[in-house]
Amino acid sequence: MFENTTFSVTTFGCQMNKHDSERIAGMMQALGSRPVDTIEEADFSIFMTCCVREKADERLMGNVASMKNIPLRAGTPLSKRYVAIGGCIGQRDGEQLLKTLKHVDVVFGTHNMEELPHLLQEALEGERTASVREGRDAFVDDLPESREHSWAAWLPITVGCNNFCSYCIVPYVRGRELSRPFEELVDLAQSYVDQGVKEITLLGQNVNSYGRDLYGEPRFAEVLDAVAATGVQRLRFATSHPKDLTDEVIGKFATLPNLMPALHLPVQSGSNAILKDMRRVYTREHYLGLVDKLRDACPDIALSTDVIVGFPGETEQDFQDTLELIDSVGYHQVFSFIYSKRAGTPAAEIEDNTPREVIQDRFDRLLKVVETRAYEANQRDLDTHIDVLVEGSSKSNSAVLTARSPKNQTVHISVDGLERAPEPGQIVRAHIVQAKTWYLVGQLEDAR
Ligand code: SF4
Repeated sequence: MFENTTFSVTTFGCQMNKHDSERIAGMMQALGSRPVDTIEEADFSIFMTCCVREKADERLMGNVASMKNIPLRAGTPLSKRYVAIGGCIGQRDGEQLLKTLKHVDVVFGTHNMEELPHLLQEALEGERTASVREGRDAFVDDLPESREHSWAAWLPITVGCNNFCSYCIVPYVRGRELSRPFEELVDLAQSYVDQGVKEITLLGQNVNSYGRDLYGEPRFAEVLDAVAATGVQRLRFATSHPKDLTDEVIGKFATLPNLMPALHLPVQSGSNAILKDMRRVYTREHYLGLVDKLRDACPDIALSTDVIVGFPGETEQDFQDTLELIDSVGYHQVFSFIYSKRAGTPAAEIEDNTPREVIQDRFDRLLKVVETRAYEANQRDLDTHIDVLVEGSSKSNSAVLTARSPKNQTVHISVDGLERAPEPGQIVRAHIVQAKTWYLVGQLEDAR
């Protein structure tokens, strides 16, 4: 029934969702359906959703609502277009989505992706179904996957989260933390390397607590050693909770040459009072201590972070503490967000009358500091010679390649006039001739 059909997967949110989308694509291809890039060309439109921020919610609703006006694809063997919603919003809203969005056929959650083929089958037979499971007892990831790039792989080592930060919906929709067995994840990493994967990113809501559920204590440092020993050229990981980042893990930035010198370490706020209300379980002093240790281990490490502006009760002094921390650390990148209330979380109950303009003004002031420091951070790479991983042609100019530096910076390289440009997935040496706020410009030297 899926022969000669097409599907699209639209992904909102984090890398974990992107990886889930690769597994959805793998399942659909195993059924005989063909991937397409746009929802207009698709017989099955699958949305992998995120409910961490209000904007992602709104984007999904806008996207799905517009679907009902799209005509059937020319040549489709089906009599209608099918729409499925999965991921965090599917998990959170379940049946309710079928009631609100009449042209949606299937809703599934974060714990039962493997049911999608069966649910779509039912949809083809005229059923509209919402199926959500409350949780799992063990890490399960034996679904086929269709990776976006043959040369890069995301490798989830944990799913779920036990931290319950007061503003965050993730533990409610992704469930409690479950770790993938050590041998299984190392074997998978080895098989990726044997297939030619150059870069592996270990994924988890908090990779640092990997193994606590299986082995009684975190074993993330051992995971790094074992995956690095597979011979993968580039190893990264995300995300790290500052309360669980150990000295042992920090030390790996000094000893593992294939662990890339870049770390995303979400701080969220520079104010101890706000960190306490956020239930982050660390102080700004602890966080700044980690930054010092990281720079001792790897002096040129590129740090990035997340910051929430306007958390309920944030005073000007709290904000100043955040601004001062951001300024003093000097991040390469800061993902800053204005606080958005998520129903069902403890922070949603906190009263706050701070005017929107005040919060917006804080946000704008933060962005100026972020940009200044990011520009300065990139200047340090000017006139250096670095190995970059080619990702493909730039979206706006096919004569320019986009590549990724070890520090996770975007590097643009002109290939104008070259007889043979490097291929995506190739590692090439570049001379950095310009450093902008959000990217570097390099000249090609040689391929590795
Ligand atoms: S660590 Fe906190 S912010 Fe991160 S996923 Fe868990 S609850 Fe959410």
